[in-house]
Amino acid sequence: MSTQVYIDEKLEKITSKDFIEIRDVVPKRSYKGEKYKSNSKNKKLLIKDFQNRCAYCNDSDSYTGGYRNYHVEHFAPKEKFPDLEFVYDNLLYSCPYCNISKSNKWAGETAEENIKGNEGFIDPCEEEYYKHLKRNSDGEIVGVTELGKYMYKELKLYLLRHKILFNIDKAYTKANEIDKKIKQLRLNKK
Ligand SMILES: [Zn+2]
Repeated sequence: MSTQVYIDEKLEKITSKDFIEIRDVVPKRSYKGEKYKSNSKNKKLLIKDFQNRCAYCNDSDSYTGGYRNYHVEHFAPKEKFPDLEFVYDNLLYSCPYCNISKSNKWAGETAEENIKGNEGFIDPCEEEYYKHLKRNSDGEIVGVTELGKYMYKELKLYLLRHKILFNIDKAYTKANEIDKKIKQLRLNKK
């Protein structure tokens, strides 16, 4: 089966389900200080702002060997816009899967033109990103608009790992809740 057929079948299957948000809180670039011409310094700032999670898929870096294996992603690609290589507002914390998938793809002619028709990318620090991409009840990321479907394909958000890691997160949260309840019950018995 070709990748295209595989993606189309998946999209068909999932559009009828109920959606949830990709993440609870939209990340914010809070750093406004001096400009660092160093990837490692910028990465440390990004880790905080993105709370150790990939800007595009929300996977935690703890499942992929920590921050060393995560990348500094350039929203407007540095190959096309070298002036933006160290501009903090153009940077994102990203898992290697999303970073390598996005590569130097860019729909517009200028750094400001991030969308052209139904193609292009939206910065995940913008609320707008979450109008185009959601999760279905199984935890899979889905594109719910034409632009969302473009990002879904180009960022390979259909990779099984994104669904699996979301469900692992969910299981951890549940396990912690149960732990707390057990502790509370033990305390009440004493
Ligand atoms: Zn990612």
